[in-house]
Amino acid sequence: MSQSRLASCIPMPIEHRALINVVEKAKDWALMHGVGMRDKKQFSKDAMQIAPFVLLPSPFPRTEFNKAVELQPILNELMHKVSHDDEFLQHTLQNALQVDEFTASLYNIWTKVREEGVTQPLSLGMLRSDIMLESRCQHGESQCDKHTPYCSWKQVEINSIASGFGHLGPVSREIQSYVLRQFGHGELIKNMPENRALSGLCSGIIEAYDLFGVPTAIVVFVVEEVSYNICDQRFHEFEISDKRPDIQIYRKTLTEIHQEADLNDKKQLIVEGRPTAVVYYRAGYEPGQYPSSREWDARLLIERSNAIKCPSIHYQLAGTKKVQQALAVPGALEKFMGSGAATSRVRDIFTGLYSLDFDESGEKAVEMALADAERFVLKPQREGGGNNIYGTEVRDALLRMRHSRERAAYILMERILPPLVAGYVVRPGGPVPPPITDLVSELGIFGVIIGTKDKIISNKQVGHMLRTKLADANEGGVAAGLGALDSPYLVDV
Ligand code: ADP
Ligand code: MG
Repeated sequence: MSQSRLASCIPMPIEHRALINVVEKAKDWALMHGVGMRDKKQFSKDAMQIAPFVLLPSPFPRTEFNKAVELQPILNELMHKVSHDDEFLQHTLQNALQVDEFTASLYNIWTKVREEGVTQPLSLGMLRSDIMLESRCQHGESQCDKHTPYCSWKQVEINSIASGFGHLGPVSREIQSYVLRQFGHGELIKNMPENRALSGLCSGIIEAYDLFGVPTAIVVFVVEEVSYNICDQRFHEFEISDKRPDIQIYRKTLTEIHQEADLNDKKQLIVEGRPTAVVYYRAGYEPGQYPSSREWDARLLIERSNAIKCPSIHYQLAGTKKVQQALAVPGALEKFMGSGAATSRVRDIFTGLYSLDFDESGEKAVEMALADAERFVLKPQREGGGNNIYGTEVRDALLRMRHSRERAAYILMERILPPLVAGYVVRPGGPVPPPITDLVSELGIFGVIIGTKDKIISNKQVGHMLRTKLADANEGGVAAGLGALDSPYLVDV
């Protein structure tokens, strides 16, 4: 299938010598402004290397960008409502948790803390809705009145845990602005939308801290044993410390929390002798990696405490792929949002999402996917990249799981086919100049929401990020070395 294309922001290819010159400068700019991460192969706490980045911003249609930004508070509210609907979560997850240990462990914690009684009614959601332009026109060649290289955009997923790029999003705009100026195109910077993701996300943590209302309290960032994505995490701390020098932040692994933390008689989570106002999860798990029982115990301890969690356990459950799929079932959105215009706008962003449960619709989905496997992606209930199944493997996996309960742990999703853009990806250790390649992008919109089951206190869109990968790559995780940092260049198509 020939994929449609969007024109790059300046004519490509760029002249060889000019390209080398600017790439060298841009790499130094990157190192000096926190466009970096730790080297996985030669880890050192004293050194950092550049994070992969796209040299010039990638085009993104202005109307679609604005639509995504406007929709974010509606998606925030939807997630908030879903996460507080016990019956919906129970019903939606019941089959998956029979066969998916990770979801089952989350679910068990959720059940336990609900039985014990809620200690902290407030939740802090820091969400990121990831979207891609869809170039496959559903209107058919001759009927489409738009004649654009894309037809619409579709949601890839909504992240409720460890949604990164609060710093790397905005700084991508800065580095690409610098590059545009080096090429003599500073006038184009006006087409790159302002991005205040870092301060917006941090304002969520600060607001939650103030709502907790204990002056001696601290904020805890839950981190992995070894942090590679150091810029993404640390800049949050620097930003909060700048804005609110009175707020102390501690970084702890779940294992450390298990060893060191306790609940006092007021159900406060005591870390380093002080009550915790906000727990912010930044730790992810690699594919195949599974939290230890001590880590799960720490998670339970945190959830039992009155700290405001980001995300709380029900928010994390609401962010599962299974819930995303269940929301696409006819009637589901209406249950949460009524049947007004907002509901149809949200429905429009869903691409085909199918349950693989052992029932009639599940069987139909299996049949449909076997007939045209490459049109689909298979997704298990995990986060953080590297777990999905694509292409010809979809067929193999379905044939293998068809009669096994394992299949209910997955959802089936239509594959989105975004338009191509030509561009240069600068990578650590990569060639200078990099080759010109065909790329595709995924836009993430950040939202912050704070509230209780019945009352929303704060709900806003706070910024964006763009990740871009080689057109033929399945996934585009930047920390995994597959994707590259990028930012949108708004175009009127
Ligand atoms: P994870 O929780 O692992 O991040 P995602 O659903 O975001 O799971 O999938 C990971 C990546 O796979 C996405 O960032 C995107 O690049 C690609 N991907 C996922 N779903 C689709 C889809 N339906 N169409 C095209 N690409 C997809
Ligand atoms: Mg993702």
